[in-house]
Amino acid sequence: MFDSLSAKFSTAFASLRGKGRIKAGDLDEITSEIRSALLDSDVAVSVVDTFISQIKQRSLPLLDELNKSTNPSQAIFNIVNEELVGILGGTARRIRYAKKAPTVILLTGLQGAGKTSLAGKLAKFLKDQGNTPILVACDLARPNAVTQLQLVGQSISVPVFAPEPGNGNGDPIRVAKDGVRFASEKLHNIVIVDTAGRLGIDAELMAQAKRIREAINPDEVLYVVDAMVGQDAVRSAQAFDDGVGFDGVVLTKLDGDARGGAALSITQVTKKPIMFAATGEKVTDFDLFYPDRMASRILGLGDIQTLAEATKNAFDGDTAAKLESKFASGEDFTLDDFLSQLEAMKKMGSMTKLLGMLPGANSGAMKKQLEQFDDSELIRTQAIVQSMTPLERRDPKVLNGSRRARIAKGSGRAVSDVNSLVDRFSGAQKMMKQMRSGKGGLGNMQMPPGMPQFPPTTGPSLNKGHAPKAKKSRSGNPAKRAAESS
Ligand code: GDP
Repeated sequence: MFDSLSAKFSTAFASLRGKGRIKAGDLDEITSEIRSALLDSDVAVSVVDTFISQIKQRSLPLLDELNKSTNPSQAIFNIVNEELVGILGGTARRIRYAKKAPTVILLTGLQGAGKTSLAGKLAKFLKDQGNTPILVACDLARPNAVTQLQLVGQSISVPVFAPEPGNGNGDPIRVAKDGVRFASEKLHNIVIVDTAGRLGIDAELMAQAKRIREAINPDEVLYVVDAMVGQDAVRSAQAFDDGVGFDGVVLTKLDGDARGGAALSITQVTKKPIMFAATGEKVTDFDLFYPDRMASRILGLGDIQTLAEATKNAFDGDTAAKLESKFASGEDFTLDDFLSQLEAMKKMGSMTKLLGMLPGANSGAMKKQLEQFDDSELIRTQAIVQSMTPLERRDPKVLNGSRRARIAKGSGRAVSDVNSLVDRFSGAQKMMKQMRSGKGGLGNMQMPPGMPQFPPTTGPSLNKGHAPKAKKSRSGNPAKRAAESS
């Protein structure tokens, strides 16, 4: 997501960081680099121009003051970050619940934007928060849209109100009305209405959306936008807003090679917040949209908050507490513990995606590592550990040749794979011990197969103007040290 934009931001800041004093000319240079990076990413010209002039307006008068600080480039970086958060909408906006249930959410957008998939993602998200949503199938135009919604509903155990077969049959306005009434009678607290799209914004689409809107008076009208479409998506969103109106945007396909234009322009152009983002085809590839986290990712700082939340949700309280107390008491980390970690990691979804949230994930070395990371390796690793007896998991030292051959056969892997897992596991176990005794760090940690190596973190920090720590000397020789610092 935003890989090339992020890489360009990193390059621009790397050259600024190399300068001791920042002059007005340097500021011109970096803002012009940022400008062309944004235009290349298909961001609307008007948005880019406002963004750049804001950065200049805020930075220029501060230059003298900034140059007295130890890290002037960091202060400029912070201004860029704040402005980026601003164009992405500032703060996250949540669903407004109706005072009297059910809360009605109307999904609109062009055909293929990802509306029907989104209906399922949103329903699951809201259900996981303790709501009782129901889906209403009002896309009676697109072939199989009703069946698709029914299948999605089934997969997440959310009921679907679908009295009409669709494929060109049935009246969507009546279905919408009946759906809301049904939801109310059956005490569902949220109704998500999926509507038909068109290939482009046309009079027919707008007329139907208006009629549904009038018939059910939704609490939220969400416009679903395919982020890969770029500027065109922003233009059609604006046309839809002028014709029908909507309350918030949902961006889909942010996992694709999205150049980011839609995400970065839509809020400024339509003055409507981006509320949710979909990042894949799976029903779990969905989250609230946080402007600050997105800005952080674009600037190469990663998205540690989302990563931490995903980890917290995946590890149930008991597992986390058990692992923590084991670590604190000095007990050995066993392959059983490793197995429960693998289970939790599987719950977290794609590792490649999660690790992509680490700071510097878009930088050369780490990006390559992530590209090579194979998510299915987790499952293969799990199969090896599951083929071990409880004794072997507790005490891998008992793993002689014949036991290893048996495990390899049981898990369908080669003996060398079993050996490699055991070796790396022992390495990780040793590292844990060292960390506990304060001698080790994560930097050199050898992870068992199925888990990537801890990559180096690059990218600037958002430390609000604090000077970076002085670089430590690598030499043990005092004379060399003195030479290094001169
Ligand atoms: P609709 O016509 O608006 O209802 O669109 P669909 O929900 O049928 O989605 C169109 C296609 O886009 C389907 O193949 C979906 O699987 C795919 N899709 C939807 N959302 C995403 C997403 O966030 N990422 C990716 N990669 N594909 C998506």
